[in-house]
Amino acid sequence: MIDRDLAVRLVVAASTRVNDHQEELSRLDSVAGDGDHGVNMATALAEAARRAEQGDHGTAADVMRATGSAFHETVGGAAGALFGAFFGALAGQLSRAAAPDAPQLVAGLEKGLARVTRVGKAEPGHKTMVDALAPAVRDARGSLERQEGLESVVAAAAEAARRGARATAGMRPSAGRARFAPDHSLGTEDPGANTVALVLESWADQLRSEVRV
Ligand code: ADP
Ligand code: MG
Repeated sequence: MIDRDLAVRLVVAASTRVNDHQEELSRLDSVAGDGDHGVNMATALAEAARRAEQGDHGTAADVMRATGSAFHETVGGAAGALFGAFFGALAGQLSRAAAPDAPQLVAGLEKGLARVTRVGKAEPGHKTMVDALAPAVRDARGSLERQEGLESVVAAAAEAARRGARATAGMRPSAGRARFAPDHSLGTEDPGANTVALVLESWADQLRSEVRV
């Protein structure tokens, strides 16, 4: 089950992971964008981790809602709004169950993807975070349908997100700032897709490291 404390550990793990990769994320963003993606994401997640740990949250949904707010309130830029929308949608889905687990997480990832797509209007192949999130959501659903548990579901999502992020190197951007210089980023992966992969990998590693009781 994803209880409040596990949600806090997941947000902290994501913050640590993205912070460790922030220079790389900004370097990717500097190729065709404005070079701020790493600092944007590290700043938002540090604030999210602070709110998660210090806030008076009763449930995992509350923690994810606070994470979404941290993205909306601490960073400008496209990705701040889009990750904020993602975590807000995830929170909404988790709040529908008293004891959320893998099925609610998968439904929450699906809602998150739908919200990101509605807000950002990017489709798969546009070289954005959607190119990591869409395959992650699809493979998480597949894992769930094979009756696998939370750890395997998140591992499947993380692996698909990483493959999706790698595949963006071969794409020309048609959304976000990078679309103004479509050829510049050929051969370079999309920064937002990398953030999706890093977050899901940090969650997979966190779940793998936890002793099951
Ligand atoms: P900005 O582009 O405003 O400087 P960031 O650098 O923080 O914001 O984030 C850039 C990332 O945001 C891109 O790598 C891409 O993954 C994502 N992104 C930008 N626009 C969109 C969009 N319309 N839909 C989905 N993702 C987007
Ligand atoms: Mg940028």
